[in-house]
Amino acid sequence: MKNLLYPIAFALSAFLFFYSCSIDEDDAPPPAAIVKKYTLSVTAGEGGTISDIVGKYFSEITRTYSEGTQVIIAAFPNSGHSFTGWSNGSTQNPITVTLNSNTNLSATFTAIINSYTLTVTAVEGGTVSTQGGTYDEGTEVTITASPAEGYEFVGWEGSDSTEASLTVTLGANTTLIALFEFIPPEVQNGKYALSYFSEDTYNTLNVINFENNLLNYNPITIFEFKDSLVIDALRYLRVSDFWYIDTNERATEPFSVREFAYKDLPFKENTTDSLPYITYLEAVNNKVIKFKLRNPNEDKTEYGYGRLLEQEPPTMNDFYSNVGFFRDPIYSQLDPFDFKSMLRGFIADAERHGVDLSNVDVENSILALSDNPIAPAWVTWETWCNPNLAKINYAKALWLNRGLYDKHAQKLQILWHEFGHDLLFMDHWAAGGQIMSSSGGRGTPNSCNYGMYDLTMIPPDDCRDWERAVNDLFAHFKEAQESGIKGEYQYEFDCN
Ligand SMILES: [Zn+2]
Repeated sequence: MKNLLYPIAFALSAFLFFYSCSIDEDDAPPPAAIVKKYTLSVTAGEGGTISDIVGKYFSEITRTYSEGTQVIIAAFPNSGHSFTGWSNGSTQNPITVTLNSNTNLSATFTAIINSYTLTVTAVEGGTVSTQGGTYDEGTEVTITASPAEGYEFVGWEGSDSTEASLTVTLGANTTLIALFEFIPPEVQNGKYALSYFSEDTYNTLNVINFENNLLNYNPITIFEFKDSLVIDALRYLRVSDFWYIDTNERATEPFSVREFAYKDLPFKENTTDSLPYITYLEAVNNKVIKFKLRNPNEDKTEYGYGRLLEQEPPTMNDFYSNVGFFRDPIYSQLDPFDFKSMLRGFIADAERHGVDLSNVDVENSILALSDNPIAPAWVTWETWCNPNLAKINYAKALWLNRGLYDKHAQKLQILWHEFGHDLLFMDHWAAGGQIMSSSGGRGTPNSCNYGMYDLTMIPPDDCRDWERAVNDLFAHFKEAQESGIKGEYQYEFDCN
């Protein structure tokens, strides 16, 4: 049966063909047209739709059209996508398709990748882990805000987050500012070293290298913080432009008191108008304070810094004990306000020069202070003939107010001179350059024109060298003892 249909179908089609070619058009009605039909199948790729009807969107369309029909198809990309083209290579949109065969067509769409700018900054008081950049849409970026010492993170401008670590998903240009706030620190109690140089020097300032000579220091003031009384300096020293305020010494001049406050921290400064004073104070952290220092003489205000001292600062006496010959093992132990300490020092000084004063009764020796001095100090003549006892009269104001910090160690010079009289029986055998010098002294043994008070622990020349003068003192004492010629250096005084 199947085999029979083939010849029939072939014959039919051949008949139709030849028939149409041979008919005279004028003579016969047209045959019923045989119109071919074709199928158009259109699909939309991912990221969009297609349509051949206004207002309708499809993911695929399959329709049958007569041959030659022109069909208009449009592609519609979804949000975030763009139309790429058709599977036939055309990029026209809409496209007109003429149906001459069964046709398959598909639209291709591409996702659009936006890029956005992220800008991250920080206010003063901290840093951020990134400054941002340009990122594809949807990128997640994690930013961490880190406060500096003395500051705390308080939030973000540009975000509601209060977390220091923040992850943002980029969907727009974004600006974030990390916000930090200063935490007012509690200033620690303790002693501070102040320096009033420019703002950036405090980092490198060597605040407590007290082993060196004062004159090598940066300007330094030592003061004390207490809970409500900050600067408690009772004594100050000025050497050139250097200030040293000692909290342990006694005052020699009246001090005025000014009060200032930093937040709830009141403080006082004991000073005089000749001293610079603080007009402003701010805590940098709990160990560093920043201040403005006003110089009343020059009417000038400068910034300075103060740092908490990690060790106890030396007193004025300690300080000068470390200058020049005050470093000496015996001299560095002297307490200038303890007469017996000074006497023991003299005995020890004699001993190392070969002069034995172990007979001296230190405990019963006497310092007598005088309100109305006729001289800085003098020997009491009634003890002159007792070699076992020292009694030295001393001007009261001079004794109370002078330590061993005088540039020329005057307090010590006076005592050694008087001990020379009292314990070594020495007279004023020198006019200058010796411990036993006086204006009425005999001769100028070393041709020096300097007086006793010109002797110093840091001598610029041999004439003013305290150590040399001490050597001379004891050498001449021994010479007098050994030669038996008292008159050369000692008083000739009959104690019997
Ligand atoms: Zn004298």
